[in-house]
Amino acid sequence: MNNRLLIIEDNEQNMYLMRFLLEKSGFAVIGAENGRKGIEMALQCKPLAILLDIQLPEMNGYEVAAELKKHRDLDEAPIIAVTSYAMVGDREQILAAGATGYIEKPINPETFVAEIIEYLPKKQGADHAA
Ligand code: MN
Repeated sequence: MNNRLLIIEDNEQNMYLMRFLLEKSGFAVIGAENGRKGIEMALQCKPLAILLDIQLPEMNGYEVAAELKKHRDLDEAPIIAVTSYAMVGDREQILAAGATGYIEKPINPETFVAEIIEYLPKKQGADHAA
C-alpha cells in the first residue's frame, strides 16, 4: 500500500518536525529541499500526497503546484500547502495554483498529522486514521 508522503520544504527544522511527526504515524517520508527536486521525486515516487512550502528558492510553491498539476499521473495526489503566509489572498492564490488544501505554520504537533490525513484520498487515509 502506498504510504509515501513527499515534503517539499527548504527549512531544515520544519522538514525535521514534519518528517518526525509523520514517520511516527507510520508514513514513509520523502524530502526535497527545492521545487525542481520535488517535482522530480513526485514523478519518480508517486506519493500519496505532496506537502508543499510556498517560500522556496528558485521556483516558489505556486510555480511548483502549477507544474505538478500538468502531470496527469499525479492527479490523485493532493497538494497540501504548508506556509507561514497567513493572508487570505495567498490562500486563494495557492488553491488557484492547484493545491487541495492549506496548513499554516507554525505547525501544531498536536494536530498536524490529523490535518494531513483529512486531505488524503479516503481509501488510503483511513488506514492511518488511528
Ligand atoms: Mn521555505
